[in-house]
Amino acid sequence: MSLQKKKTPMREQDPKERIKNYKEVPFGYNDQEALMEAERCLQCKHQPCVDGCPVKVPIPQFMQAIKDGDVVEANQIIKTKNSLPAVCGRVCPQEEQCEDLCVMGIKNEPVAIGRLERYVSDYNMERGSDKSSSKEIEKMKIPELKGRKVAVIGSGPAGLTAAADLAKYGLKVTIFEALHDTGGVLRYGIPEFRLPKSIVDKEVESIKELGVEIKLNIVVGKSLTVDEIFEQGYESIFIGVGAGLPRFLGIPGENLNGVYSANEFLTRVNLMKAFKYPEYKTPVIVGDKVAVVGAGNVAMDSARTAKRLGAKDVYIVYRRARNQMPARSEEIHHAEEEGIELKLLNNPVAIHGKDGCIDKMECLKMELGEKDDSGRRRPIPIEDSNWMLDVDTVIIAIGQNPNPLLTKNTKDLDTESWGGIIVDDTQQTSREGVYAGGDVVTGAATVIKAMGAGKQAVESIKDYLLNKKDN
Ligand code: FAD
Ligand code: SF4
Ligand code: SF4
Repeated sequence: MSLQKKKTPMREQDPKERIKNYKEVPFGYNDQEALMEAERCLQCKHQPCVDGCPVKVPIPQFMQAIKDGDVVEANQIIKTKNSLPAVCGRVCPQEEQCEDLCVMGIKNEPVAIGRLERYVSDYNMERGSDKSSSKEIEKMKIPELKGRKVAVIGSGPAGLTAAADLAKYGLKVTIFEALHDTGGVLRYGIPEFRLPKSIVDKEVESIKELGVEIKLNIVVGKSLTVDEIFEQGYESIFIGVGAGLPRFLGIPGENLNGVYSANEFLTRVNLMKAFKYPEYKTPVIVGDKVAVVGAGNVAMDSARTAKRLGAKDVYIVYRRARNQMPARSEEIHHAEEEGIELKLLNNPVAIHGKDGCIDKMECLKMELGEKDDSGRRRPIPIEDSNWMLDVDTVIIAIGQNPNPLLTKNTKDLDTESWGGIIVDDTQQTSREGVYAGGDVVTGAATVIKAMGAGKQAVESIKDYLLNKKDN
């Protein structure tokens, strides 16, 4: 039997229908589709796909378990390395990671590793068999660490992963989270139609089942300090507070009514449930015409959310070209299918208002010049090419930096000029016993990179505690 050259397609909601709801866009594989796709895996001995995964999921082994019809076993295999597989199967940039190194991708399309990871995870969640193997976890426990206390600050993917792995070693773990709910960007940033919050709830629940305690509404650096956490008997701390402070363009008119940071806009809709207004009391009024500035995943999510809130014309305004857009190609494709218009090689220079509200956004046309430090051709303004875009709302999605609340109020914690915490290869900060990872170290990056950093930090915390003099 010859192998299918292309990935088994995934069925999804029709674009005309889905812009009227917040339900997840792709439906996921059924049993037959998953088996067909897993059959494409060649079981390569040198498993290059695993090298592409920051948390080293045993990919060929879980594919084999699907082929053998044992989806429960496939889940146990994935969970040995990945505490959030249902999330990663949906939002990982697989095309640049595991799938990029898949041997099938040399001549054909790579195996759909992410889609199969999602299938395995959903299958086990739906059937209640989504437990990490208690036998495997028991084997991981280290007697010298049993019951010793470690604190994790932040419950995003970095913090959740660190907490799960620390608990597996037998440590007593407490997560301190500033918001009233868990998940970080998974909850307040990535919209329901890409990552249903019921999935985040289930992933968090399975981490709690490992014995992790979660304390909400505690802003470390304000209501509790790092020193006070140590005073409470915690022997080590992992900081995973992300990068939640939005950057702005610094152009005239950014303080007008109707200008949002993507962070505020998405938090209102996702965390504060503005999409259910008036049932939930958080209004977001977008009007008919919305411009989103930026072209990453955050920009695509904002644009697609604005469409679902009823905006007729939604534009992505980006100063570079299409092949320089940082968003996943799947997200750009979905956005265009939903009628989002790309205004590429355009740089906003001012937002003009009438009676305190937005009326127009002034843009300058750009062309591509020589390559810059990032290796991409630099956008150069075309003189006197200014033009006006009629808009009611502008959403700025050009990146985030870490919030300085924790770093400014913690002694001896070295930071970069842009606010990121400085760590060494082992994720250790300048303060003894304090480790950090995720967006707070790298700046805005990806879920799986944050998880990888959380895992690395746990190995370092384990060694630190085992070697501690008063152990
Ligand atoms: P976060 O997820 O930001 O979590 C940090 C947590 O710490 C938060 O819960 C925060 O409330 C808490 N916190 C902050 N300060 C304090 C404090 N002082 N005390 C206590 N708690 C605190 N990545 C992908 O891989 N694929 C995607 O498709 C994708 N889409 C994205 C879409 C959007 C809209 C956004 C914003 C990001 C997206 N990303 C995506 C990036 C990805 O979500 C982040 O890289 C990842 O969430 C970083 O994880 P983290 O744990 O470091 O931080
Ligand atoms: Fe690929 Fe992400 Fe899964 Fe790793 S976690 S195997 S990179 S989809
Ligand atoms: Fe299977 Fe691709 Fe990994 Fe080979 S590289 S084992 S084909 S997923």
